[in-house]
Amino acid sequence: MNFFRLLCCFGLLVSSLYAADFQVGVAKTAITPPVPFWLTGYAARTKPADSVRMELWAKALAIQDDQGGQAVIITTDVIGLPLEISDTVAERLAKSNGFKRSEVLFNSSHTHAGPVIWPNLRVMFEFDEKELARVREYAAKLTDNLEAVANEAIRKLAPAKLSSGQGTADFAINRREQTAAGFRIGVNSKGPMDHSVPVLRVTGEDGTLRAVLFGYACHNTTTGGDFYQVNGDYAGAAQLEVEKTHPGTIAMFMILCGADQNPNPRGTVEHADQYGRTLAAAVEKALSGEMKAVRPPLRCAYRVIDLEFAPHTREQFQTESQNADQYRQRRARLMLEAYDQGKPIRTLSYPLQVVRFNENLTFLAMGGEVVVDYSLRAKRDFPSENLVVAGYSNDVSCYIPSLRVLREGGYEPDISMIYYGQPGPFAENVEEVIFQNIRDLLMQVGGRESRLVSVDH
Ligand SMILES: [Zn+2]
Repeated sequence: MNFFRLLCCFGLLVSSLYAADFQVGVAKTAITPPVPFWLTGYAARTKPADSVRMELWAKALAIQDDQGGQAVIITTDVIGLPLEISDTVAERLAKSNGFKRSEVLFNSSHTHAGPVIWPNLRVMFEFDEKELARVREYAAKLTDNLEAVANEAIRKLAPAKLSSGQGTADFAINRREQTAAGFRIGVNSKGPMDHSVPVLRVTGEDGTLRAVLFGYACHNTTTGGDFYQVNGDYAGAAQLEVEKTHPGTIAMFMILCGADQNPNPRGTVEHADQYGRTLAAAVEKALSGEMKAVRPPLRCAYRVIDLEFAPHTREQFQTESQNADQYRQRRARLMLEAYDQGKPIRTLSYPLQVVRFNENLTFLAMGGEVVVDYSLRAKRDFPSENLVVAGYSNDVSCYIPSLRVLREGGYEPDISMIYYGQPGPFAENVEEVIFQNIRDLLMQVGGRESRLVSVDH
């Protein structure tokens, strides 16, 4: 062997020892609406926001492994992306970059100080033509922005290493308070909660921190319906804080199963900033603690299932159309139109997705506002998977209650369906149908079988 060949062999050996497992690209783009603009999430608001307290962002993390696996995770500081937007962006990425639907994951932070994302929560609003045109225009521009930020992340693909860790933050509290008049939104310190803060770290070959993706299970509702400035709430503040600590790094927030969780106490923008710092501190602690390597292969699966609503009748909505409440009237109108077209709404198309990195880390991304019971049960049912269970992913078209929450009733399983323009509560099989499909999807991507699902949960 001549000297040159020996040198080549040595070079190959060194590069294989130090080769990064992944190619990763990360990008961000501002998606702040032009003010004045209507904010969404609270029906009580009476006017649009007239100023911007904090820019809102869409951020994308594109990941490729060396075995053909790929995914792009897109996070957004908005209330919830409807399927109309996420599917359109995914179709465009399929055409331009060959991404399958399963390889594109969208999550929205659910900030209640962000713009109306048409047609999400449409029953909350009765816009005139001019205002409707503005919100439609924003939705179209947002679609373009999400495509652009994903493309930029893909263009920036470069060798990187991934690792995962976990912190905790305890400002979320279960908000389903039992009263003599039933469950209402309040404070329930004994209710189920999930205070974990999963962290995914992306470092370049030279060791620089390129991106941090972190999650938390809590509504972004620190400020209330009397707040009229565009703001990212605690999630926006936490991302700013992490980016301030690590200049040049992109910090991404993914909301988990926080549908029945609120920040506590809440009400002021100072609370939101404080929770941002608390969450950022939990992220820092995880980053400086023991992080585990995340390895290929990266495998993804996605399916849209049908969830059944409880039975309803045309008469029911005829009666509701006479109700004094304007939101009930609008919901009734939508349902009567559907009956008139011979297509009463009996089911919801519901997206489920898994993005799994070998045996190291699995994102389970669920559509809708998912109550914390799903995260707790998924971790119990699949104890050998390192699971990050996110709600508010790919589509946000209503709350997703567990059987327990469905039976208890109240805002999440019942009243919220009015604002979401859905016919009413789900049928009682909702949780089991979802878990059967989660199990199938996990098995498709190599997930490890768990013990049998307990019947009494
Ligand atoms: Zn919500």
